[in-house]
Amino acid sequence: MSSSPPLAELVGIGKRYETLGEPVMALRDVSLTICKGEFVAIMGSSGSGKTTLLHLLAGLDTPTAGSVVIEGRNLAAMRDVERTLFRRRRLGIVFQAYNLLPTLTATENVALPALLDGVPSREAETKARELLARLDLELRVEHRPQALSGGEQQRVAIARALMNDPALLLADEPTGNLDSVHGAAIWERLASLARDEGTTIVAVTHEPDGAAHADRVVVLRDGCIVGEIIQEDKRDAATLAARYRELVG
Ligand code: ADP
Ligand code: MG
Repeated sequence: MSSSPPLAELVGIGKRYETLGEPVMALRDVSLTICKGEFVAIMGSSGSGKTTLLHLLAGLDTPTAGSVVIEGRNLAAMRDVERTLFRRRRLGIVFQAYNLLPTLTATENVALPALLDGVPSREAETKARELLARLDLELRVEHRPQALSGGEQQRVAIARALMNDPALLLADEPTGNLDSVHGAAIWERLASLARDEGTTIVAVTHEPDGAAHADRVVVLRDGCIVGEIIQEDKRDAATLAARYRELVG
């Protein structure tokens, strides 16, 4: 992995939230390089800065210090419109709460990012169906979200995130609304996208069972990176959980 060129680089990132009381330093001097094809998990307890870090990588927010560079482009230096377009074209984002549009079918939800980008609807829907089939949802293409299980909705959300062939797939607690069986299936899905299709993934979680699927686990505590765990072939959640506990103290 280390021989691949960096796909995304966070350099000296700080993020301060101004609040009515004391400002909150959500991230301090965070530097991180993500290589092409890597599957990185970001672990940390609640409030450690995981979502903030993911939002900065996604260009949903801007850092108060440092730079976020993806495919050689500095997101912080872009105008809002540019950043929105970059996000739609180059990034795929999966949220804990799926965020599917209830009135659209699975196919229409998945096709949406391409339709917004001006792709003709037949072409977009054909590709959306192919993506849904790759996620074993070929029998659900005309279903609306309310007729799908949580695990199926999250697979639709992953298909939507892949619609524009993103350079980077980002996921924030993607299994937080699922039971452990469906959650495990989603992590296996993400791992197979990275391993078999070369998708670069950054996924945030506080669950060792999920993070154990990643190539590398970056551990956050109080807004700082306190360590990294490189996972060799044996990806065992119990071993990871023990090393994680050592790092967070
Ligand atoms: P995590 O995802 O690891 O639970 P977050 O990134 O959501 O952590 O939050 C990190 C810290 O920043 C927490 O102390 C949180 O309360 C604070 N925080 C997050 N978002 C905001 C915001 N919009 N305004 C003020 N403080 C925030
Ligand atoms: Mg969070």
